[in-house]
Amino acid sequence: MREYATQMEAAKKGIVTPEMEAVAAKEYRTPEEIRQWVAEGRVAICANRLHKCLDPNGVGSMLRTKINVNLGVSRDCKDYNVEMQKVMAAVEMGAEAIMDLSSHGDTQPFRRKLTAECPAMIGTVPIYDSVIHYQRDLATLTARDFIEVIRLHAQDGVDFVTLHCGITRRTIDQIRAQKRKMNIVSRGGSLVFAWMSMTGQENPFYEYFDEILDICREYDVTISLGDACRPGCLADASDVCQIEELVRLGELTRRAWAKDVQVMVEGPGHMPMDQIEANMKLQQSLCHGAPFYVLGPIVTDIAPGYDHITAAIGGAMAAAAGAAFLCYVTPAEHLALPNVEDVKQGIMASRIAAHAADIAKKVPHARDADDAMADARRTFDWEKQWECSLDPETARAIRASRAPEQEDSCSMCGKFCAVRSMNKALSGEYIDIL
Ligand code: SF4
Repeated sequence: MREYATQMEAAKKGIVTPEMEAVAAKEYRTPEEIRQWVAEGRVAICANRLHKCLDPNGVGSMLRTKINVNLGVSRDCKDYNVEMQKVMAAVEMGAEAIMDLSSHGDTQPFRRKLTAECPAMIGTVPIYDSVIHYQRDLATLTARDFIEVIRLHAQDGVDFVTLHCGITRRTIDQIRAQKRKMNIVSRGGSLVFAWMSMTGQENPFYEYFDEILDICREYDVTISLGDACRPGCLADASDVCQIEELVRLGELTRRAWAKDVQVMVEGPGHMPMDQIEANMKLQQSLCHGAPFYVLGPIVTDIAPGYDHITAAIGGAMAAAAGAAFLCYVTPAEHLALPNVEDVKQGIMASRIAAHAADIAKKVPHARDADDAMADARRTFDWEKQWECSLDPETARAIRASRAPEQEDSCSMCGKFCAVRSMNKALSGEYIDIL
């Protein structure tokens, strides 16, 4: 019998849980450091007590930056086994979290399959599932219906749920008055907004927040406070809608922590590069150090087809300035449902961003592989180079497809190879260019 309901409660009571031990070992930190950060809310260990096969990870700005991959059954891809293969491939490629955004059919079997078989943190957005679950139009659903879906997801072993608690009826007037270029682009946020507009009622995720906290406490579900008003274009970035919601998310963070419920806060969005660092600092201050989970930020609006790159640029800057968790973005963003290759490109771009940020913020041992890579490049140890690579398969394939005459160079510069020339020059050897 556990002496605690949630990781946060354990941490506050001075108990180091097996999950904290596991996170400490992965992050080169002491279990006591992890416990302290979980107690303060600066690290979230999303670990539903019913997700038995979970390989726990900590989310916090002082830890390795984590990445999330969105998958799930849809009308166009409704085979559970095919989707599960994609999930496992994503985990293999380095995703620490999978958000199940299933939007078709009976979503429960796939959700249960995930928490029974997948070692990554599993997240969901219960409001997406509400319409599907009840098979009723949004306007006919009640606040109680939404809350019961949260309970269902908690009972199915989901580790974190995105809830758009931060918008209220006041937001309806504000969105109209502000005349944003892109209004609301958060899918969950737009559903909450639409429900409030159609029913005339207050946001149920805000109004019944305490009841939701009780459910999350019972199963140790982390709340990822959704940012309904995240900017959907550069012109809307850092406006009053975004910042006012962030202030409310800070208040809700404190209320959740008072009940020992762990919290992450979701963030932008689309944002010019010169605003990213300030936004990260503002979130840390307004949300009391709770881990920031960013969706991008996408740093230019005019690169459809390449938004894994626009997001990686913003994601690297955001994580270096304090964000803890990056949601992957694929080349298909704004255009279509990602295919397998898009998923791979999205994951690799996010991993590069996360890793680059970890080096900049001096996460313990983050640069070890880079230093080993430099040694392997200098000594032309190609096997070692593949070992150090984020994507060895691609690196190996490129070299094999354009093989050089000699092993101590590549086909880029051939005998003009600077590395080869320097090795020879420094050891007093003759350098034959022609
Ligand atoms: S040939 Fe040029 S690119 Fe290739 S290893 Fe040597 S210096 Fe680097």
